[in-house]
Parts: sequence; structure tokens; C-alpha cells
Amino acid sequence: MSKTIGQPHAISPSAPMRPFWAEIVEIVHEAPGVSTYWLQFLDPALRVGFHFKAGQFNMLTMPGLGESAISISSDMHDTRRIGHTIRVAGNVTSAISHLKVGDTLGVRGPFGSWWDLDACVGKDIVMSAGGIGLPPLRPVLYHVMRHRQDFGRVVLLYGARTPNDLQFAAEYKAWQDAGIEVTVTVDRGDDTWEGRVGVVPILFYNTRVNPRNTIILTCGPEIMIRFVIFEALARRVPPERIFVSLERNMKCGLGSCGHCQLGPFFICKDGPVFSFEKLQPYVNVEEF
Ligand SMILES: Cc1cc2nc3c(=O)[nH]c(=O)nc-3n(C[C@H](O)[C@H](O)[C@H](O)COP(=O)(O)OP(=O)(O)OC[C@H]3O[C@@H](n4cnc5c(N)ncnc54)[C@H](O)[C@@H]3O)c2cc1C
Repeated sequence: MSKTIGQPHAISPSAPMRPFWAEIVEIVHEAPGVSTYWLQFLDPALRVGFHFKAGQFNMLTMPGLGESAISISSDMHDTRRIGHTIRVAGNVTSAISHLKVGDTLGVRGPFGSWWDLDACVGKDIVMSAGGIGLPPLRPVLYHVMRHRQDFGRVVLLYGARTPNDLQFAAEYKAWQDAGIEVTVTVDRGDDTWEGRVGVVPILFYNTRVNPRNTIILTCGPEIMIRFVIFEALARRVPPERIFVSLERNMKCGLGSCGHCQLGPFFICKDGPVFSFEKLQPYVNVEEF
């Protein structure tokens, strides 16, 4: 057992780069190259005490290979098992994709800023996500399901490349049954697809947005985020009510190494969730 008894986070104050070990208890295939890994900490104190906020991420370690920043995609009100939905991109994520139930990996976290759900109380929420941008918003969906009466209209606009690439498809009905308006689109349909075809920002054309009372939460490819921001601003939603989660190549998660810097911000420490009001002066820099 490690020395984390009583410590709710998997971040050691004296050795913040040291991972805590967790066992994979279930793997759920979501889409080609994308699976959700359900983890349980080996440390019993973390198993009951670990907590996070919607939008935060963990650094997952593969010994000998390195770490990857991965958003927590599960319910922040039930942390007995922590879900991470991972798309194979390179070395670390590919190695994780070869792990099986019963294998262990390292976890440090949670890190970063979060979606401010207190600020959403009494407001309409429009979430827009593309591809692997949905996992960091899934904790918001679970929170809304538990506290539906706290919010006005809640809308999810989600898109993927093809119908096969849609993540969490088995859950859309439960989200709708809980009073969330779910609209899904794909870039390219197939023979069986009867839904919408087109990119995510276009879904705004059919979505009523009350500029005085709406909060926008968005995560996905940066080109999609740009157009979502454009559509939101065009509907007069002010920059301080548009929230963006940015994914950047990062290493330490602690604001030390500078890999994920954007202007004066470290995405790992100051983000990944930012209001557009904060980001606005820096959106023309390289990589955004
Ligand atoms: C805050 C945050 C949350 C994230 N959440 C998730 C998540 O929930 N699920 C998920 O699948 N991925 C997520 N990512 C992306 C994930 O961290 C990278 O895909 C992963 O680190 C790649 O590591 P690798 O060793 O497999 O690939 P590498 O071998 O390191 O890289 C493969 C290729 O991907 C590029 N790359 C690496 N990291 C990123 C990045 N962050 N953005 C763009 N390109 C990158 C590299 O430059 C290289 O070209 C998140 C990233 C951040 C910063």
C-alpha cells in the first residue's frame, strides 16, 4: 500500500511525478481505435477518496514509455471506478490499447481546470463536441442527469467522422430520457445511416440559443472549436460564457516543462478549460 492514506488525489505532494497504480477492471470498445478503460486504484484510500471535477484529466503512465494526458470520462459522483476514453494516437496510447483487464497502469491526477457547473445553474447549456472531444463532456452529462432541475435547456451537439466513430452511442437514449436534447451528425454517412450529415458547427443553424441565458461548452478538434466559437458569437453569446477545453501536447502536467504553453497560459495548469474571454488575445498563435 502506498503512503496516500487520507489523500484524496493521486498526486504526491513530495514527489508529484510519481504515479499511483490502478488496475484495469473493464475495457469497453467505443469506436475503432477508441476504448474506455475503467480503472480502480490499488490503494484503498484512493479507491474511496479520489475525487475530480468534470473536465479534469489524469496523466496515465506506461512504465518505460511515458505518460499521456487523458480526460476523465466517468461520473464525478461515483469514483469507485474511474473511466478514461482513449484514442490510439502514438506510443503510450498504443501500448495502453494492448493492455487487458487485470493489468495495471500508473495514474497521476486529477489535473487542470474544470467546467464551472455552478455557473451553469439556472442557465441553458449548449455542449458541442467532435470526436474524442466528447469524453471530457460526459461527466457534465452525468451531472446534469443527476441535477436536471438545476438547469434550463440542455443541448448536446456531437459529431464524428462516420457512424462507426460515434462514441457512447448506447447512452444517447438515456441522456434524452433525462431531458437532454441530443443531436448527432457525421461527416460521412453509410448505407445504414439515416441521421444528419455535416460538421458540428452547422448544428447551430437548427438550435435555438438564447444569448442572455446560454453557456457554451465545447471540446474537439481546434478547427471545430473555432467555428463553434464563431457560431456562438454570431448568436451574441458573450465570450465570458463560451468555455473551451484545449488539448495540447503536454508532458509534466504541473506547469513546469512548458510543452503546453499558449501565450501566458500552461494548458495543463491554467487549462484545459478556459473561457473564450481569456483565450481571445492568443487564438492566432501557432497551433491554435
Ligand atoms: C488536457 C488533455 C486531455 C486529453 N484527453 C484525452 C482523452 O480523453 N482521450 C484521448 O484519447 N486523448 C486525450 N488527449 C490527447 C492525448 O493526451 C494524446 O493523444 C496522447 O498523449 C498521445 O500520446 P502517445 O504517446 O500515444 O502519442 P505520441 O507518440 O506522443 O504522439 C503521437 C502524435 O500525436 C501528437 N500528439 C500528442 N499529444 C497530442 C495532443 N494533446 N494534441 C494533439 N496532438 C498530440 C504528437 O505530436 C504525435 O504527432 C488529451 C490531451 C490533453 C492535453
